[in-house]
Amino acid sequence: MELIDSHCHLERFAQQGELDAVLARAAEAGVGRLITIGTSVDDWPLYQRLVQEHSDRLSWTAGLHPCDVGEDWESQVGQLAQYWQSGPRPVAVGEIGLDRFRLPRDTTEAATLMVRQEKAFQAQLELAKELDMPVVVHSRHAFEACLSMIDLCGFPWERVVFHCFVDGPEALRQLRARGGRASFTGIVTYKSAPEVREACREQGLDKLMIETDAPYLAPVPNRGKPCEPAMLRDTASFVAQELGVSLEELAAQTTANARAFFNLG
Ligand SMILES: [Zn+2]
Ligand SMILES: [Zn+2]
Repeated sequence: MELIDSHCHLERFAQQGELDAVLARAAEAGVGRLITIGTSVDDWPLYQRLVQEHSDRLSWTAGLHPCDVGEDWESQVGQLAQYWQSGPRPVAVGEIGLDRFRLPRDTTEAATLMVRQEKAFQAQLELAKELDMPVVVHSRHAFEACLSMIDLCGFPWERVVFHCFVDGPEALRQLRARGGRASFTGIVTYKSAPEVREACREQGLDKLMIETDAPYLAPVPNRGKPCEPAMLRDTASFVAQELGVSLEELAAQTTANARAFFNLG
């Protein structure tokens, strides 16, 4: 059985010298490959180097996260394309999108930031189109806005994943109708999240991907503890039960889905 953690952030583990241990525990839990997700110029070079050192276990993506969109966003986005010029290349543009949850209280500041996020999102959708890459979308309190921006951009929906999906079954239906998909974190195991489970059932197995978003969002039974990729197995077991399939079947299908989506070969 092999699982792929389709979305995690390994920066902290690497900085603390824990990466080898984290990778070993992941392997023990059946998590063979990990996709470490870039968020800004601060982690892109690190991830490219990590993938060079651990090409058998790691892949990476590069993108400017909406919460990292600052005044210098244009310069940061301008630096992205170079990572596709020499290896190991990112397997997607991401994570990119809109986050209207963590906005400044001042309404003028909030409006400025929202516009900036939209510009950065659009520029990176265009870049992904040029590079012929899939995108990993981060959307928080911004589902409709993300949807219409992707529609407007004419980006191919089958190359879009909304990661850490929490927007409920109706939103999932809209995503699916367009040809897009969602991936699910440990939140799906939380008692307080029945609508996320409903969305997960609505997604079904055919395009499903799962992720930890480590070091955040540890699944039950480790909720509240620091999350690491090995814990993907708990989410996988839970989702398998939720969808009425065996863990092996869920692993085979989600792994095949992640391989196809990120073109992992
Ligand atoms: Zn995210
Ligand atoms: Zn993330």
